[in-house]
Amino acid sequence: MWKIKGIAASAGIAIGKIMHMQEAVHDFCRLVDASQTPAEKERFYAAQQAAEKELEILQERTAANMGEQQAEVFAAHKLMVTDPSFVEVVLNHIDNQASAEAAVEYAANEIAAMFAGLDSEYMQERAADIKDIGKRLVRILQGGTAEVNYTGILAAQDLLPSDTAALDLDCVSGFITALGGKTSHSSILARAAGIPAVVGVGSALEKLNNGDTVIVDGHVGEVLVNPEEDILADYRLRIKKEQERAALLASVGHLPSETLDGHHIELACNIGTPGDMEKVIAAGAEGVGLFRTEFLFLDKTSVPTEEEQVESYKAVLAAMPDKKIVIRTLDAGGDKQLPFIGGLPEANPALGLRAIRLCMVYQDVFKTQLRALLRASVAGNLHIMFPMIATVDELLSAKALLQEAAKELTQEGVPYKSDVAVGIMVEVPAAAAIADILAEEVDFFSIGTNDLVQYTMAADRMNEHVAYLSDYFQPPVVRLIGNVAKAAQKAGKWVGMCGEMAGDPLATPLLVGLGLTELSMNGRAVPIVKHRIRQLDVKQTQKWADEILSLRTASDIKKRLEEIALEFEI
Ligand code: PEP
Ligand code: MG
Repeated sequence: MWKIKGIAASAGIAIGKIMHMQEAVHDFCRLVDASQTPAEKERFYAAQQAAEKELEILQERTAANMGEQQAEVFAAHKLMVTDPSFVEVVLNHIDNQASAEAAVEYAANEIAAMFAGLDSEYMQERAADIKDIGKRLVRILQGGTAEVNYTGILAAQDLLPSDTAALDLDCVSGFITALGGKTSHSSILARAAGIPAVVGVGSALEKLNNGDTVIVDGHVGEVLVNPEEDILADYRLRIKKEQERAALLASVGHLPSETLDGHHIELACNIGTPGDMEKVIAAGAEGVGLFRTEFLFLDKTSVPTEEEQVESYKAVLAAMPDKKIVIRTLDAGGDKQLPFIGGLPEANPALGLRAIRLCMVYQDVFKTQLRALLRASVAGNLHIMFPMIATVDELLSAKALLQEAAKELTQEGVPYKSDVAVGIMVEVPAAAAIADILAEEVDFFSIGTNDLVQYTMAADRMNEHVAYLSDYFQPPVVRLIGNVAKAAQKAGKWVGMCGEMAGDPLATPLLVGLGLTELSMNGRAVPIVKHRIRQLDVKQTQKWADEILSLRTASDIKKRLEEIALEFEI
């Protein structure tokens, strides 16, 4: 047996035989006689039509297998195949005596290179899409079919969206790719389809032969090649346990998130775009605890209009009209610079003009967002949340601007809900220290542990050298969470959490014991956290929390929580 190390892209274990994906042939005739130009153009048009048909089928099939959102990529490809600027480049190459195949390949490469050179990650991803279209057209021009029956563990240089969609996912049990990272198309699709995947294995891919037996361990990013029988038996047992666990968690999906003694702990999801709402509903969550609205602003060259924003906020609210939807106002600045808001050079951006601080400088941008939020409020149960609040004055200024936006809408006769709940993120230690004072001015708190840890421990959340400090189980962080919960309870306000800690099942008994009544997380964490909650007794969790508040180190706290976790079925 030997091992290949790669990147753990999609969790789970798969055992099977290697099957390499066939790559498109590139040795076609590139130059044609001038007299053949019209015929080459006809061949291109025919391939274009065939591609549109294939993409339509892929779109339908992906929507049925993996959901509408995953299928959107093919709708976009259909538009790109007929895009006038792409077609113009192809036809120009044919006019210069390129064969249809060569013209398509040149055009796709040129446009992809242009996209790849742009600063935005979104546009860079479009480069992969245009290459994918080029590949599809060349295959069609060469008379290739879309369907290849791959079975077992698929090994490929990279998996483009159309490659994955053409697969019968019931026959493919794992992916290994030479290229790609955690956020590449293939990884995202593997996770969405629940297929274990290891990506980025580089040239090691070529050492794998068709028919080799491999174990793909998507938890740690390892491929075990031709393992011995005892290792295979061990991994088979692990697969069985994972399947039992998945079945149990799936059965929890739509059960209430209630403790044994009848306390309801609201489970919500964190989202970044309105398109994420499908997953929130599928996860069995009860609403949205954090909508990071930055996405609306980050890829833009100008401020998104009020109309655009109203539409996005309404789409989220309307997807779950009777559920609580917490929309956070713009948290830009720091490491999320906006191109249209002059990024002033700052020595310490994380301690600088970020979030509410930036919004109070660019009040026109902020007011537009507040107007859009109020206008959207008619579509559901909106909760507005301000990020990075550190002082009462900041909160009062933000609330005053919200009042001003409401007054304007009243004067304009534009409808909005006048009783929209207003809360803050508690993610700066200063806010945690005066939580009792802030509680008088808000309807709710949501604790953002990602930043609360960074600012409490004075450890940059992106800096691996101080990662040992970036731990939400550090006693000062746990104590601050306890203080905030106490202050909120005393003032009769609810307190939730939307930082990463909320989705860690190890932390669930502690957070419930400290008095949090809402936890907002990534959709994938909802079933396991819900399963934990359903095994808790609140009185017991309070005793655990008191005990944990007296512990001295993060590892003591983790150790105790691990002991507690042993009491649960999963
Ligand atoms: C947090 O800080 O915990 C949080 C949820 O906000 P973000 O990760 O968007 O900074
Ligand atoms: Mg934050």
